[in-house]
Amino acid sequence: MKRRAFLHGLCVLPLGTMVKDIKILQEWVDGTPATVRQPVLFIGHGSPMNAIESNPYTMALREIGARILERNRPIAAMVVSAHWLTRGTLVQKSAAPEIIYDFGGFPDELYKVQYPVAGNPNIATDTASLIAGAMPTEDWGLDHGAWAVLKHLFPKADIPSFQMSIDWGKPMLHHYELAGMLSALRERGVLIIGSGNIVHNLGVSIPMLGSGNRKPFDWAVEFDAWVANALQNGDYRKLTSYESAGKMGLLSVPSPDHYIPLLYTLGLARPGESARTFYESVEYGGISMRSFIVDS
Ligand code: ZN
Repeated sequence: MKRRAFLHGLCVLPLGTMVKDIKILQEWVDGTPATVRQPVLFIGHGSPMNAIESNPYTMALREIGARILERNRPIAAMVVSAHWLTRGTLVQKSAAPEIIYDFGGFPDELYKVQYPVAGNPNIATDTASLIAGAMPTEDWGLDHGAWAVLKHLFPKADIPSFQMSIDWGKPMLHHYELAGMLSALRERGVLIIGSGNIVHNLGVSIPMLGSGNRKPFDWAVEFDAWVANALQNGDYRKLTSYESAGKMGLLSVPSPDHYIPLLYTLGLARPGESARTFYESVEYGGISMRSFIVDS
């Protein structure tokens, strides 16, 4: 890797005080074999049923996964999932992460899905060391926000995978800025994936899932478009305030758990990179499946 380019990247990162030990970053600059920078993904994961279905959305995931493998194979994947909310930031470091079936009321077939992927204890531990106060842990494993997505991206389960939790209760800007501290992982060959949903209102969507009515509400379509417009303009910081979109923002993000992973993906974007949507739809009233890749 070009040292100057890397250090320049650091200069644009916010929250410099959150870096626990600058030497760790320095070691990566000096001691890690050069790799091509990994892109960053945001995946709208939607219903767990996508794990066992084949549809235009799952096909889009398979296509983008195949393209990433072909162009620049990651040495590991780290997922920030909407479904792992903790006090403080935790990084899952198991060598063989457990598959967690963190949902109820779905067909038996879904609880039999296996995704026998390895973890990467070394990189997970190093990741925790990048953030002041973060801790590696063997608790947790891979929840469906991770494995249901990885299963389509990398169906051979041959990219070691681990999760980083969301420090629940922290303001939106915290997550966006914390992501910048993880930037060195991209050069190390780690594909970072935010997994949530830009619009996620289960209160309106669950009854519609039952009836099979897929028609979206106007406010959901409008908020998804508001976010898409900011993505196109590179106006990422604006997205740390979904409330600024008014009523459509509050209806689309009744709780920020599924929105926060978006901020991790955007916080990892570098100058000169852009966010390109590879799948979009708003369905079941209030779920946006918009998924995009950030690269140059
Ligand atoms: Zn979810």
